Amino acid sequence: MKKVILFLIDSMMPDVLERCIGAKQAPAMQFLLERGQYIPDCVTVFPTMTASVDCSLITGVYPDRHKVPGLVWCDPEKKEMYNYINGAIPIRKIGLAHCAGNVLFDLNERHMSKEVRTIHEVLEENKRVSGSINVIAHRGHKQHKVHLPPLLDAITSFRLREKVSGPTIMSLGTLVRPDIFRPITWNMAQTIAEGYGINDTYAIDVLIEVIRSGKQPDFTLVYLPENDHKLHKNPLDSVQHLAEVDRQLVRFLDSFDSWEQMLERNVCMLISDHGQTMIGESDDHNIPLERLLASFSIHPLTAQISEGKDVVICNNERMSYLYPMNPDKLFPIIEAVSVDPRIDLVAWKENDQVLVRQGGATETLRFWRDGPFRDRYGVRWGFEGDLSVLDVRSEGNVLVFDTYPDAFSRLYGALFAQPSQVVAVTAAVGYEFLSESAPTHLGGGSHGSLHKQDSLIPLLVSGASRQFPTPARLVDVKDFILQELGVSQL
Ligand SMILES: [Zn+2]
Repeated sequence: MKKVILFLIDSMMPDVLERCIGAKQAPAMQFLLERGQYIPDCVTVFPTMTASVDCSLITGVYPDRHKVPGLVWCDPEKKEMYNYINGAIPIRKIGLAHCAGNVLFDLNERHMSKEVRTIHEVLEENKRVSGSINVIAHRGHKQHKVHLPPLLDAITSFRLREKVSGPTIMSLGTLVRPDIFRPITWNMAQTIAEGYGINDTYAIDVLIEVIRSGKQPDFTLVYLPENDHKLHKNPLDSVQHLAEVDRQLVRFLDSFDSWEQMLERNVCMLISDHGQTMIGESDDHNIPLERLLASFSIHPLTAQISEGKDVVICNNERMSYLYPMNPDKLFPIIEAVSVDPRIDLVAWKENDQVLVRQGGATETLRFWRDGPFRDRYGVRWGFEGDLSVLDVRSEGNVLVFDTYPDAFSRLYGALFAQPSQVVAVTAAVGYEFLSESAPTHLGGGSHGSLHKQDSLIPLLVSGASRQFPTPARLVDVKDFILQELGVSQL
């Protein structure tokens, strides 16, 4: 049976992939595309942030079931704020030990629901071997020791000397090294300046070495982060950034006797986690949440949530979660943010229903599960109010989405990831949210919203035994891979 390798390329977008191949800058991707199935409009989950997306990719469910709502979020009941590391300043405020603990341990061992099983868990329960290279969501049945570099060890006061769980073959930069015969030859990609090995070069080095060692797992998920970092800074050079990712894929293909040999032995898939949207250059492209919420007392950015404030802001770039600390504040908060037309959508929940309106407008759309309508993915819904709020058309009893792909399941997924009340706001195209210490990208790229620019991702499947089902969603990838490896989830 063939093995499966899935490359997760951060912020890869369909139009950039097509232009890169058209300009003959992506021979590896072109090779795979010509021998496979290319889906330009696969839909990712919301918010379009790596942490929530990665959890959905490995569990095959939306955040309402895996319970990781975003990159930055808070638990009003436990009175804690979580940040899986989104820039240097917030980390300084919340504390490196707290953030490193969040991303290294809490995400997998505490936050991701035990009610759902990761692809690694399912595969290894079915006598297959699974592998994860540099992916932050990696829960599995094996325990791996974390080797913190001395500097990080000292800064975090030696508090992080725990084990993390993962599949049999597991790599997390230089912090968790895969259990193979030969160590990865040391190079600059493993230094602190290069993120302790959380980079494209090191990920491909590890993959090549794992295959050479004869220990290639039946399934390997490989995370390539650099395209995202470069796009945030220079979105205009998007083709060049993706061409650099392709050079890493060429290195992988060249490690076989021939590129064809790779495909004879493997199903090779490429996917992205989200797109990016260009942010305008002038200051007014940052929507100042603290100014909009000036009549409320706003909780400062800290690890612990204390009593006595009105609202906690958790900024996920082009989306934000606003947590009213008192139920009386819910509607005043909604009213306060709704007035700004730079805000695209404002969504919240009432019992088992989602309510949503556009920034600067008052029409409300309300929807709920298990009604008489169904979407293109076969999920059943009921609704009341103005469908144009989410640019939805109903054709008979079928709901068709356009500007906000798979909008109902994705909004529902984000709002019901937690039992507490929360308001989700998204920024209009060209804008992102500004709040205490959150990283911003004026003149650069950003993501997080429900809009199709952030939400449609390319999916490339090469060497598989059958077609990937369309219309495609990122949450369907887990099941497709399990079937390719002859494993049924039931
Ligand atoms: Zn990003």
